[in-house]
Amino acid sequence: MAKLKIALYWAASCGGCEIATLAIHEKVLKLAEVADIVFWPVGLDFKYADVEKMADKSVDVCLFNGAIRNEENEHMAKLLRAKSKIMIAYGSCAYEGCIPGLSNFYNRQMTMDRAYIETPSTDNPKKILPQTKFKVPEGELELPELYDTVKTLGQTVDVDYIVPGCPPEEKTTWLALEALISGKLPPKGTVISHSIKAVCDECPRKKEEKKIKKFYRAYEMIPEPEKCLLEQGLLCYGIATRGGCGALCPQANMRCTGCYGPVEGVIDQGAHFLSALSSIIDSNEPEEIQKIVDEIPDPAGTFYRYSLPDSLLRRAIIK
Ligand code: SF4
Ligand code: SF4
Repeated sequence: MAKLKIALYWAASCGGCEIATLAIHEKVLKLAEVADIVFWPVGLDFKYADVEKMADKSVDVCLFNGAIRNEENEHMAKLLRAKSKIMIAYGSCAYEGCIPGLSNFYNRQMTMDRAYIETPSTDNPKKILPQTKFKVPEGELELPELYDTVKTLGQTVDVDYIVPGCPPEEKTTWLALEALISGKLPPKGTVISHSIKAVCDECPRKKEEKKIKKFYRAYEMIPEPEKCLLEQGLLCYGIATRGGCGALCPQANMRCTGCYGPVEGVIDQGAHFLSALSSIIDSNEPEEIQKIVDEIPDPAGTFYRYSLPDSLLRRAIIK
């Protein structure tokens, strides 16, 4: 039987998803028996020209991680889509925009100014910003154009499957690879995970009554080890997040921050979490409710940490 041809690519992301593909440990030997990697810039010396020379649909599957925030990301997404039979949005950045997508609260100029001029550790008295073209004695250097708005992979090209997570857990990655190896693929558009329910369904913490008078940040309290974190006032996102990770964070005394994306059927994860929280605030007094809500740190980043580009909001309007 012919071996599967797999491509892996890293667009706007932190690189964690590249590491996550290796977290399958010894199963990589099983994968090597049935598949060849034909493109993987982070691990093997392939050039973009090598991909351009490939026949269309000659790659069986592309695991594409990272959001689309510049010209190069978009070019590679379109090129790999043309060359691949199956395109997988691998990880939260490709799926929902994730942390790079938080720059949709700003515009390109604000992002550049912050990164290259304003940060306390930056020493740039001439306020020099990266240019898309720059002449040096050896010739002209080029950088891809940074876009104003970060997009998801699915907003850029047709995507066949999604593997959620920031990064995807080993068992989630293997679930997708097993489906590819066996040829038993789920319907197009499936978010491949062990659960379509919420993280709370997998969480072993005791759930009683959710009535919140005050929200706490992690450093402000030591949570009881067995009780639901949300019931203790920590903003645990498990209630509005797709399961499949095995509720890893709550089991390590950390609140879930929502990295597996929305539960099945929900289109806006942040709105879903907001709606859930509004039903458990323990007050009927508008002033007290306002005081409790005001304690939520960084509400935009808390509710849309992973999903802003894929949400109904998509971005802020900057005047
Ligand atoms: S809110 Fe968090 S701690 Fe509570 S049950 Fe859900 S996942 Fe577990
Ligand atoms: S508990 Fe939440 S944040 Fe942690 S790995 Fe699971 S989905 Fe991601």
